Amino acid sequence: MNILIMGPAGSGKGTMSAKIVDKYQIPHISTGDMFRENISNGTFLGLTAKKYMDQGLLVPDEITIQMVEKRLLKADCRIGYLLDGFPRTLAQAKALDEITKNIGRPVESVINLTIDFDQLAQRITGRRLCKGCDSIYHIKNNPSKVSNICDVCGSQLYQRSDDTVEQLTVRIEEYERSTKLVLEYFSSEGLVFDVNASQAMNDVFNDIDKALVKI
Ligand SMILES: [Zn+2]
Repeated sequence: MNILIMGPAGSGKGTMSAKIVDKYQIPHISTGDMFRENISNGTFLGLTAKKYMDQGLLVPDEITIQMVEKRLLKADCRIGYLLDGFPRTLAQAKALDEITKNIGRPVESVINLTIDFDQLAQRITGRRLCKGCDSIYHIKNNPSKVSNICDVCGSQLYQRSDDTVEQLTVRIEEYERSTKLVLEYFSSEGLVFDVNASQAMNDVFNDIDKALVKI
């Protein structure tokens, strides 16, 4: 079961990834973890990537793709994998398609989590965090007992400066621009399965499951 999962921040991608991994017992491969692991183990690819990151530069595709290939060749990926956070560009998508076919572990399904913008905006702009203990509230869905005061520790609540509709619009547009060609590419191979991530969590997972049992 070789799967990619895609979805913007706030789509519940982390939660769904955990559920997929739990049910199907396949490794969850996130590019963030992969970079950290390679850097802390001091691999050649990790050290090369670090040189770019230290200068605030993007890590070149050929480095990332080699890291992904090495990871997908490991024994635990024999039964499948869930790749998260990659590919982000058309060039990466084509390269991934090629290497996964070459190593006999081709991508079989792309789970694309889609969101309702207004609903996400409401969820994000209503979010309040505690300065003292990091508890999370929502002014409508999960309000504190006393307005702006944490139930747990009594500290003041605050709103993150980027939890605004304007910032969200920028984030979503940026995400859509960067993933549009990736999705088109995998769509042309008939691999993309759109899932409405604005539903209740169990319904989202049921829809994902329907796509996965077909593999
Ligand atoms: Zn608190």
